Amino acid sequence: MTDVLTREQRKYNMSRIQSKNTGPEVKLRKFLFARGIRGYRIHYDLPGKPDIVFTKKKIVVFIDGCFWHKCPVCFQEPETRKEFWMKKIQSNVDRAIKINDQLQSEGWTVIRIWEHEIRKEPEKSVKKIISLL
Ligand SMILES: [Zn+2]
Repeated sequence: MTDVLTREQRKYNMSRIQSKNTGPEVKLRKFLFARGIRGYRIHYDLPGKPDIVFTKKKIVVFIDGCFWHKCPVCFQEPETRKEFWMKKIQSNVDRAIKINDQLQSEGWTVIRIWEHEIRKEPEKSVKKIISLL
């Protein structure tokens, strides 16, 4: 199955793997840590692989990449292979909606934070999370 991946798909998969422990997730965790918020799990097995999971409070946090999830503030259409990427991005958006529904129906509170929000105003995201804890 993996043999039939196109170069773009492989690149895409790589970017997903690399994004696991870098960037906005790490930044958000640092800010949570600074506020004494440590009681969460990462890499917890739930639909959509949430970035942060508060198991006792049943709260999940997703950090959505502005490109991958078509952020209304910063999304720009790719200049090359537009059709390929737009299809991929739309399926991410649709999947996120399904995942929200699924998690919510199982009693989880779902928080979605845009990547740019963490880049620009991490404290605001932290406050949002704390207010629900
Ligand atoms: Zn954005």
